[in-house]
Amino acid sequence: MQKQPGKARGRGPLLRRLAAAATLAAVLLDAASASAAPRAAKSEAPQNPYPARRELYDRIGLATGLAWYDLAAIDQYERTMSRAHPRTRPLREGAVSGVYIPPERWAGPLNPDENDKQPLSIRVFQGIGQDGSGDGRADRTNDADLLYAVARRVMVQGSTRDDFAIGVWEYYHNTRAVQRIQQFSKLYRTFGKLDLVQHVFPLPQGTVYAYRSTWGNRRGWGGARIHEGTDIFAGYGVPVRSTSYGVVEIKGWNRYGGWRIGIRDLDNLYHYYAHLSGFEKSLKPGDVVRPGQLIGWVGSSGYGKPGTQGKFPPHLHYGVYRDRGLVEWAFDPYPLLRNWERAEQRSLRVHS
Ligand SMILES: [Zn+2]
Repeated sequence: MQKQPGKARGRGPLLRRLAAAATLAAVLLDAASASAAPRAAKSEAPQNPYPARRELYDRIGLATGLAWYDLAAIDQYERTMSRAHPRTRPLREGAVSGVYIPPERWAGPLNPDENDKQPLSIRVFQGIGQDGSGDGRADRTNDADLLYAVARRVMVQGSTRDDFAIGVWEYYHNTRAVQRIQQFSKLYRTFGKLDLVQHVFPLPQGTVYAYRSTWGNRRGWGGARIHEGTDIFAGYGVPVRSTSYGVVEIKGWNRYGGWRIGIRDLDNLYHYYAHLSGFEKSLKPGDVVRPGQLIGWVGSSGYGKPGTQGKFPPHLHYGVYRDRGLVEWAFDPYPLLRNWERAEQRSLRVHS
């Protein structure tokens, strides 16, 4: 009788020590993988999130008839909105789906129980909550229920491409959301996978260029009152490459930007490449690009009528804007550029 509590006492600290060691090991592993991975990937979940997401899209796709890439596009758009609005759209711990639906929309605006999980009463109160997991409950913290609820709303219109766009518009009442989701869908459909997060530096390694942080610098060459971007100085004709997977959104002349091209990526970031001497001719708005793909050449176009050039030294003006749903905010691309440059230099060293 006396020995057993003694044993238990002895075992307790050992277990605790083992648990502590396991935690320490996990922390060390995390630290090791964090330092090995490029800094730009830091915001990504530490584990590979894509297999679980793909499984969810396939499952909800079977239940609704929506294609996996359309579901992936909606889900990713939702995820980017949550990243842009972390306080009003809190991300769930361990979430697979990026969908966020406010309680009153889920349960119905007049539902006295905003945590209602009964599909029947939610329907009575005109909430959009659904049971997508098959457990009889419509739970707005359940990945399958959330994505299924959105899919059902979007599918109300029908199942053609036009119906999909109309359904998405009916759900968001925001044409930008429709455009984003169609762009994302095209990217997933074209490349056939979810993992499209690779990035590269805009100019090829091995070319001669120079840049420094010019964020908010009035002396920057960009045309904006406050300089929104980074100027990368290089000679005429140095290739300019897409830094990300993306869809060409704009291509043409802009008074200040000169020949410029705008590309949307799956993080809902708009990458702006300005003052080009020319474009890769085959590219047109709506086309998809991959990281490293040639999009044009360094020049000094801009600050005047179409074709104006030579009013400043040749350079690439590179800007990045985050879509926040209704407006876009510029942020300083300099840290991203440094990370992409270092990551590429590291991988070139490894492979040479
Ligand atoms: Zn500039």
